[in-house]
Amino acid sequence: MIQPIEHAAEILSTARRAVALTGAGISVESGIPPFRGKGGLWEKIDPMKVAHIDAFLKDPETVWKLLIKDMKRLLDTARPNPGHSGLADLERLGILKTVITQNVDGLHQMAGNSDVIEFHGNFAWQSCLDCNRSIETSQVDLTTLPPRCSCGGILRPDCVFFGELIPQKALIRSQQVSAACDVMLVIGTSAMVQPAATMPFIAKDNGAFIIEINPEATPLTSRISNLPLLGDAGSIMPRLLKALRRRLATP
Ligand code: NAD
Ligand code: ZN
Repeated sequence: MIQPIEHAAEILSTARRAVALTGAGISVESGIPPFRGKGGLWEKIDPMKVAHIDAFLKDPETVWKLLIKDMKRLLDTARPNPGHSGLADLERLGILKTVITQNVDGLHQMAGNSDVIEFHGNFAWQSCLDCNRSIETSQVDLTTLPPRCSCGGILRPDCVFFGELIPQKALIRSQQVSAACDVMLVIGTSAMVQPAATMPFIAKDNGAFIIEINPEATPLTSRISNLPLLGDAGSIMPRLLKALRRRLATP
């Protein structure tokens, strides 16, 4: 029987419009904890409560202290890992067209992917709740929390809190590329956050082959994944790229 990594490489070697859907898991090996799963933030706080827009508007100081401050500290220094680089390599090979990410860390762009749909916005910028001015997160002073704009208004990150709508453009483009792809790589997502979790179903309904990379089974694994690769993205992706390059080099 063909090994799963070889099978995935074979599928990708003939793909022309592959798309990746990524979640917090792909950034774990860059030192950013996920929400769910082992070592996840969920073990310490309930993100459904703390990362909810109502909680932020009611008590921005607490949400900055419990969640956003630490996120800023982690993201200021985080670098892409071999999982991200593997996706950048797949784009360079002409196989991967788009990355749909639920992450707000900017690591796909840093790794070199050029078409990244940020489904939940990004953490690189903050907006003032009063005057709507944008400020780069790296420039924000955290001496007093919540940090404020020069107008006195409270700053919030440009990411989507629970209870907020997905940016319309990101949602529509994600649906389009999911419907048009021939292979979807689903990497490091628990597939529990909607509507991102519907993208693999859209892809599958339109005939795509679903390759899933995750150390744990998800609701997708037994339902729609054609090929689950059980393991960490940072170790699976380099092996997958190696197997793929070998195939592409063999006439
Ligand atoms: P999640 O936290 O719900 O699930 C993470 C998944 O990654 C789990 O299924 C886990 O088994 C898997 N995983 C853990 N380590 C892995 C590894 N090394 N390689 C591959 N997979 C691994 O993540 P989610 O589904 O993305 O949903 C949480 C939401 O929280 C996201 O929508 C995102 O907006 C936000 N979030 C973002 C970041 C970030 O930007 N890096 C971090 C935490 C949370
Ligand atoms: Zn302002």
